[in-house]
Amino acid sequence: MLLVEDNEINQQVAREILEEAGVSVTIAGNGREALAVLEEMRFDGVLMDVQMPEMNGIEATRALRRADRFADLPVIAMTANAMAGDRERCLAAGMNDYVSKPIDPEELFRVLDLWVKTRDRAGGSHGAGVDSAILPVPANQAEAPAEERLRGLSGFDVEEALRRVRGNRELYGRLLRDLAREHGGDARAVNDALAGGDRELAHRLIHTLKGLAGNLSATRLHRAAGELDALVRDPSVGPEERRRALAVLEQRLEEAIATINAALPPLSELQPARKDAPLPADLAAEAAAKIRDAAELGDIGAIRALAESLPQDSRQVDELKRLAAGFDLDGLCRFADELEVQKTTR
Ligand code: MN
Repeated sequence: MLLVEDNEINQQVAREILEEAGVSVTIAGNGREALAVLEEMRFDGVLMDVQMPEMNGIEATRALRRADRFADLPVIAMTANAMAGDRERCLAAGMNDYVSKPIDPEELFRVLDLWVKTRDRAGGSHGAGVDSAILPVPANQAEAPAEERLRGLSGFDVEEALRRVRGNRELYGRLLRDLAREHGGDARAVNDALAGGDRELAHRLIHTLKGLAGNLSATRLHRAAGELDALVRDPSVGPEERRRALAVLEQRLEEAIATINAALPPLSELQPARKDAPLPADLAAEAAAKIRDAAELGDIGAIRALAESLPQDSRQVDELKRLAAGFDLDGLCRFADELEVQKTTR
C-alpha cells in the first residue's frame, strides 16, 4: 500500500496497523510526493489523507485518475469524522471509498478487503488476505509500560487506543510521550497564530493536535480540539468565542500532558546511559535571562517552550522541565541563578 499522510504520528499509527497485518507500506508525505512515488513503483492500493500541504488528497486523486494506468488503482480516503462534505468530495474526485480517522483497524481491513486485490498471494485469495480477528499481538514488548499504568490515564480511552495499535503498548507509550514532549506549546502557538491573523496556521495546528488526540484516544483533548477547529473554520465566529474554546483546549492539553508525565516514566529514566551535555555558556546565559523574565510573569508556557528549544541531551533541561511542570517559580529563579553562575565559571 502507498500511505499518503502528512502527519508523522498518523503515519506511524497507520504503518503499524498495516505492517502488523503483513501489508507492506510505503509512505508519501503529501499528494505531490505520492504522484512521484507512483511513477516509480507499483502499488495494490493507496490510502489517502485529505488535508495535506503542497497537494491535498483530492487534487492528488484527480491527477492520478487522469492517467489511464491508474484508472483501476484503489484509492481509499482517510477522513476525519467531523469533516462534513469531505467524503462526498473524495468520492467525486475518484476515490473508491473512505475510512474514518482515527483509524479503526477493523474498519480499515474491511474496506481494504473490499477494494484491494493483492498480487502474488499464495492460496488463491483475491482479497487483501488479512483476517483482522486472528492477527497476533506483537511479541516483543519488553519495554512495554506496565499495563495498569496505561489503564490509569484519566481523560484517555486506553482500551480503544490499544485496539487501534493492536495491543502494542510500547508503541502507545511512545506516542503518548511524543504528545507530551512535542505538543505542550500548541495552545500558545494557536493563540499566536490567531493573534497574528493567520487562521490557516491556527487551523493546521489544531487539526494536527486533534488528529493526534484522536489516535491516542485522548478523548477530552480530542473533543476540545474538535470544538475549536469548528470555530476557527467558521469566519462568522467572533474572537471572544474562540478565546474561550482555546482556553478549554489549553486546559485539556495541560491535563493530558500532566497525566502522561505522571503515568509514564520519562525516557531519560529508561535510558540511563544517555549522555549529559551541559548547556553551552552563551545558551545558558540567554536561557537564564528568559527564565527569569518568564518566572516573574508566571509564564510557565514560555518556560516550557524554552526548554523544548534547548538541546535535549542535557540533565539541566530535564530539571528545567521538572520545575516548570511543578509551577515552581522560586525553583526556576534559583535555576536561572545557577545557569548565570555557570556562564561565568565555564
Ligand atoms: Mn493531514
